[in-house]
This record gives sequence, structure tokens and C-alpha cells, in this order.
Amino acid sequence: MSIRRCFKNQLFLFLILMSCGLSGAGEVHAKNFLLVIDPGHGGKDPGAIGRHAKEKDINLKVALQLGNLIKRNMKDVDIIYTRDKDYFVTLKGRAQMANKAHADLFLSIHTNSVASRRQPSGASTWTLGLYRSKDNLDVAKRENGVILYEKDYKKEYHGFDPNSPDSYIIFEFMQDQNMAQSVHFADLIQKQFKGYCGRKDRGVRQSGFLVLREVGMPSVLVELGFISNRTEESYLRSSKGQYTLAAGIFRAFKSYKEEEEKRKESTALVGVSAQHVRSHSTSPIQNKNLNSKEKIIFKVQLLSSGRKIATSDRRFKGLTRVGYYKSGTYRYTCGDSENYDVVNRLRRSLSKRFPGCFVIAVQGGKRVDIHAAINQYRNK
Ligand SMILES: [Zn+2]
Repeated sequence: MSIRRCFKNQLFLFLILMSCGLSGAGEVHAKNFLLVIDPGHGGKDPGAIGRHAKEKDINLKVALQLGNLIKRNMKDVDIIYTRDKDYFVTLKGRAQMANKAHADLFLSIHTNSVASRRQPSGASTWTLGLYRSKDNLDVAKRENGVILYEKDYKKEYHGFDPNSPDSYIIFEFMQDQNMAQSVHFADLIQKQFKGYCGRKDRGVRQSGFLVLREVGMPSVLVELGFISNRTEESYLRSSKGQYTLAAGIFRAFKSYKEEEEKRKESTALVGVSAQHVRSHSTSPIQNKNLNSKEKIIFKVQLLSSGRKIATSDRRFKGLTRVGYYKSGTYRYTCGDSENYDVVNRLRRSLSKRFPGCFVIAVQGGKRVDIHAAINQYRNK
């Protein structure tokens, strides 16, 4: 360990000690990273059914193999399985486990299926958002359909009807502050599915998954492949296939966690204080009590990056008013308008180029609560 690194670590430890001292805690534990692995379906809910296999069994086997790989190789990670055997768990129950435990990351594992003559193949990774195509809606419909196994689903999910496209409109207005991290993790997984696992790459996609809506941390859902495709089904039920998919996700998780650690370390050291916020940028403070005198400006947050990117970078080509602020990572934005609808349209037009981009609100150079800002805009 270099002297500088050592000093950094000591400072980090000092900061932890300080905060523990203030809260009155006796012992110091470096908190392990907590991953929730959620094998979809189970018990009375088989999920999709192939010629020989059931989705619930494939999901569980890949989940357990992934967990074992992590336990063997990453001692500083704790794992919670939403189920580790063949039993039924509600979608809300799954999310609650993750929320109660204050997990750092939520990963839901599923297997795809379509009823068509020409059978597609390949793996995809999903984050929460509004569907952009009928295919994407169909995947969410099928996965959300499991709530119909629950007696009180209408009450539990506030009248959400998994089969009605109208129910999905709410996902258009959701602001997910974990979106950038979720999309980043999804990207890492897709790279491994394609490169390491050699699967056909069906990309990172968005749709309205209830289970992801309920969790309060970065979250993704993988569709390992199509159980309805005969060739793919035999891969999915083979131990080689299951191990390869688990190992691919493991590699992605390892990169994600290492990056997260660097990000947290830099946040702990520099803080998120105003001195690191440059001009034409905003501070990361969230504020629900909006100041009525200053203008609220809406922007589209495009991406976050551990490294600083020049606003002239080719990724931002053709965009106006590109800026950034720092909150752990560098967050890049574009657009500037008091009109939420204009910025939301801009966001929609950019969502292909920047999957997971979302609208933020800024007032007096500070990021403010988006719901409060939209409310204020609508009431004007
Ligand atoms: Zn499923």
C-alpha cells in the first residue's frame, strides 16, 4: 500500500470513527456491501414454461450459483436471497426484504418467453422506466402478471392492472434517483452476457417492472434467455449454461462494486461540498421546500461518470447547454428551461442515445426535489 493510499484509508477510518462517535455506537464495523439476489417466481408460480424446464427453477439455480461465486471470492459482500428454495414470494415481499435491509443493490433474475413461431434468442438486462415498444411492454406484463397469484393484489398495488397499458403510464412520471447506477450496472451485465457468455445481445432496456418500482436502491432485472426457444432452453437448463450465466453476472457485479467503492471513497474524502461545484453546474442538495422567488430550471440528466468528461466530448455532439455537477460521480446534463414539458420532451428524444436519462430540477444553483418542482410548475 502506498503512503498516500494509507493516509487516505486512515482519513477514511477517522471519518467513520467520527460518525460512529456521534451516533454513540460502540464498535466500528466497515459495513459490507449488501446485494439482494431475487430469483423470480417460485412455488405455485412457475413463471414461463418451456418444453422441459420451468423458469422458476432456472432462475433459482443461476441465482444460487451467482451467490456462491460471490461468497467464495468477495468476503466483503453480504447476500440476501428473496428465496433460496422453491416457494412463492410476493413482489412486494421481495422488495420489502431489500428495503428493510437497506441493501446496496437489487438484482432480479428471470427467463424470457414468447409465443411466436419465429423464436427469438438472447439475453437482455432491464431497468425501471417507461416501455418504448410493444415488445418491452409485453415483458413487463408477463413479469408483473405474477401479482395475480396474490389475493389482495388490487389493494396491495393500488389498482395496478398488469394487463392494461394504461397502468404503465405512471412509469413515465417516475423519477428514479438510482437510475444512472442501475443503467450502469445493466450495461456491465450486458457486456458480460455478450462477451464472456457469448449470448446474443438484446441490449439494456426499460420497462415498468413492479418489483423494481418498489425497491429504493439501484436495481436491475435480467432475462437470461428464451425458455420458449428450444435451443436456448437446453442451454438454460444445462449446468454449463447456468454456470456461465452466473459467472457473467458475477464479473459484472465485481466491476460494479469496485467502481462503487472508488466513488464512495472519493465522496468521503472530498465531501459533496459546494467548493467542488463549478460554474454552470449544480450542487447535489435535494430540497423539498422550494423557494418561491427563484426560478426553477429543468434539465435532462444524461449520464454519470467517474471521470470528468469535456463538454465538447463527441458523446454530447449536437447537444446545447451541456453542463455537469458533482455528486460522488460527475453528472452531465443538457437543456435548460422553465418549461417542464419541453424538457421532458427533450428527455424522451434523447432516451435512445442516453438510456435512463431523466429530468432534474434546479433552483438557485441547487438541485431540488423533482416532484415538488413539477407540482409548482403545474400549479402556475
Ligand atoms: Zn419471470
